[in-house]
Amino acid sequence: MTEPLIYEISSPGRTAVALPDVGVPEVELPKELLRKDLDLPEVSELQVMRHFVNLSHMNHSIDSGIYPLGSCTMKYNPKINEDVARLPGFANLHPLNDEAGSQGALALMYHLQSWLAELSGFEAASIVPAAGAQGEFAGILMIRAYHLDRGDHKRTKILVPDSAHGTNPATVSMAGLQAVELPSDKNGDVDLNALRAALDDTVAGMMITVPSTLGVFDTKIRDVVRMVHEAGGLMYMDGANMNALMGIVKPGELGFDVMHYNLHKTFSTPHGGGGPGCGAVGVNEKLVDFLPGPIAEIVEEAGEEEDAPLYGLKMPVKSIGRLKAFQGNFGMHVRAYTYIRIYGGEGLRDVSRHAVLNANYVRAKLRGVYPMPVDRICGHEFVMSGHVEGVEGIHALDISKRLMDFGIHPPTNYFPLIVPEALLIEPTETEDKATLDNFIDVMKTIAQEAKDDPELLHSAPHTTPVGRVDEVRAAKQLVVCCRPIPDYEPQRTPSGD
Ligand SMILES: *Cc1c(COP(=O)(O)O)cnc(C)c1O
Repeated sequence: MTEPLIYEISSPGRTAVALPDVGVPEVELPKELLRKDLDLPEVSELQVMRHFVNLSHMNHSIDSGIYPLGSCTMKYNPKINEDVARLPGFANLHPLNDEAGSQGALALMYHLQSWLAELSGFEAASIVPAAGAQGEFAGILMIRAYHLDRGDHKRTKILVPDSAHGTNPATVSMAGLQAVELPSDKNGDVDLNALRAALDDTVAGMMITVPSTLGVFDTKIRDVVRMVHEAGGLMYMDGANMNALMGIVKPGELGFDVMHYNLHKTFSTPHGGGGPGCGAVGVNEKLVDFLPGPIAEIVEEAGEEEDAPLYGLKMPVKSIGRLKAFQGNFGMHVRAYTYIRIYGGEGLRDVSRHAVLNANYVRAKLRGVYPMPVDRICGHEFVMSGHVEGVEGIHALDISKRLMDFGIHPPTNYFPLIVPEALLIEPTETEDKATLDNFIDVMKTIAQEAKDDPELLHSAPHTTPVGRVDEVRAAKQLVVCCRPIPDYEPQRTPSGD
């Protein structure tokens, strides 16, 4: 499976490009402009093609197999999204083009904002933020601005349950506020007594992930919202897990004041590798004026002559400002717009129903095989413990690495932090029953192997181009070069640690 380095297949004189005739007189370039050490591989077009296609096969991707990475919603991204994003009118549109010449793009942004707001029961939405974490940042800045605008300067704390996504407390600190952690009760819900004790007039609001990172819907969420509101705080919902809720629950109707969506999760725009994303934010009437801009708006309703209104961009009157160049990642807007239009309201509801059904199917089948620390009906994902009864020394990491030998991407490891040896599994709605059954069988096989031959798990993966690496060292000493670094020896960890 190993792919030779492109330098190893280089042979002098080969080339992959045929440059056109220059058409102008050739001249000598000044010597000082020429790099002497520019040692490029000399390869044919076919070699380049095979090299990169083979390299791409060394990585797991959603297009090659199931990717049950909890919290990340690695669903299949329909290719029609890409077709639409590549339409020249969208792909070649310059962000500085004037509004009159960008009406199609502005209409698309306007409709996407409205649909997102409607889907979650909010007054308005901004699609500027470039990631979920940036949407959170926008939300907390809005909550802060809201209190300051009312002359309430005491509110400096944001309550964050311990089942929150790690970005939540980080966001609170970034926004200059103080995160106060709240414990969960034994069902994984917010502990109401702890909440009551934490509430006072220094609380700006609460930030809660729904469904939580334990994969469960907080059964007391209405009480939580009411109590925080009664204390004068606002409610932020981390809506990155909207894949469990579409068409079933509207966070705005539960009383939330603001939430973010992850278009690169729920609405199938691509993600991974830190690429462009969109963490749109929806708000109720309390926060509309504070939204980050610019926002697409109708500036003139369609008259009798025209078949469409005139769209423009506006900054909300008390906006927290801009978070991103121009209008955000427009390519993501096009893809999410396409996804929503293809499915329609009923279709999105089915997306969530199937996401929840698939997760519960896998959970039910793996009960009794692995421990389930929160043993109740889950949303679109569930957490189990990477522990096999009667076997010591098997860790979540060993199970994950062994899964790779079966061509399956591991679930999220060691997150949420409140579950020891956590494995967070999110199959998504796009996998069919045969694929889920295969995943379940493989998980059962691995549990059996843990008993019969634990070393097989400790030394996994065996079939991947790179074996078990020292993860700490790999993170600290990234090798992203296409040539080996002299003296660099990838090290295998001693088994089990
Ligand atoms: C993914 C995720 C985030 C962060 O989103 P990014 O786009 O990665 O910044 C926040 N909260 C939850 C619950 C998530 O799953």
